[in-house]
Amino acid sequence: STLRVAIMGLGSYATRVAKAMLDSKNAKLVGLISGTPSKIKDWQATYNIPDKNCYNYENFDAIKDNPDIDAVYIITPNALHHPQTLRVAAAGKHVICEKPMAINAKEGREMVEACNKAGVKLLVGYRMHFEPNTLEIIRLREDGAFGEIKFFQGLSGFRIGDPTQWRLNKELAGGGAMMDIGIYSINGARYMVGEEPEWVTAQETKTDPVKFKEGVDETITFQFGFPSGVISSCLSTYSTSHLDKFFLNGTKGFAEMQPSTGYGPIKAWTNKGPLNFPHVTHQTVQMDRMAGIILDGETAKIPVDGREGLKDLIIIDAIYKAVDTGKKVKIDLT
Ligand code: NAD
Repeated sequence: STLRVAIMGLGSYATRVAKAMLDSKNAKLVGLISGTPSKIKDWQATYNIPDKNCYNYENFDAIKDNPDIDAVYIITPNALHHPQTLRVAAAGKHVICEKPMAINAKEGREMVEACNKAGVKLLVGYRMHFEPNTLEIIRLREDGAFGEIKFFQGLSGFRIGDPTQWRLNKELAGGGAMMDIGIYSINGARYMVGEEPEWVTAQETKTDPVKFKEGVDETITFQFGFPSGVISSCLSTYSTSHLDKFFLNGTKGFAEMQPSTGYGPIKAWTNKGPLNFPHVTHQTVQMDRMAGIILDGETAKIPVDGREGLKDLIIIDAIYKAVDTGKKVKIDLT
């Protein structure tokens, strides 16, 4: 069976996802939701989408009565994910939502509840959860190849350009680099270590308060403690380029990835040498697997559901609180 997907928000990442979906065996782009009629026209021509599957932000609740669309993939600015997910769920369609799932845990919880209540699935666009090098390192860790895990380091950043973009607008972004790119080190710390963090400490620095206004973080360093005693040290920033590296170390060895979460090819190696998986387009594999999860009840080795997205939001709330208070903050993921 094929998952018939409508994309909401026809921006740069949506363009990448739509192209990748052309190669998906199990997911197909069949619908569009956009506020820009000219984009709808262009995309309709490129992807052969009928008029009856095209909507705007005012009328998309009517997707409820469209039997030819199974799921809506929300690829809009972060702060819109919550209200849009609630509307898609109310229309009875499955939701795939980009990261961060929302801009705080309260919103995330409401999204999980709304989708449960509506009987639709809620998945988050965590494409790394299906990436072969990542999954192999997790398999090696579970096999004991690195011994007892002791330390993780995650470095996530890029140098952001145009100061007028939504990513630097607190209202639409919900924060700064942490919401956008730091979340990869949060999520990565959890799946690389294989435990949930129980506390966090965090420090913020801002070198450009004009570009990075109140509530928009430029650079945050943060440290997690895990129940077994593993510690992690991570960096989230909008100020340096080519910052994309994971390092996991245990009593017997290490795994390192650089780039670790970019679009690829992902490069990974351990103390025994390089991993040599052929590059796959992350979004193609993601859509193949998400179709299986939504339509056939398959499960993912690293979950991609709303609960997983919510955990990262609870942790982001805790990081911001640790920055504000200068104190060690307990993380409660229940
Ligand atoms: P973008 O600016 O290129 O696209 C955003 C789209 O939303 C645009 O088409 C814009 O017109 C539309 N939009 C609708 N309502 C809007 C409003 N009120 N204000 C501004 N724009 C509005 O951004 P993007 O890079 O495509 O990011 C979109 C989402 O995808 C973000 O949540 C981002 O975190 C996520 N993303 C995920 C990945 C990934 O690898 N998983 C990569 C890039 C972006």
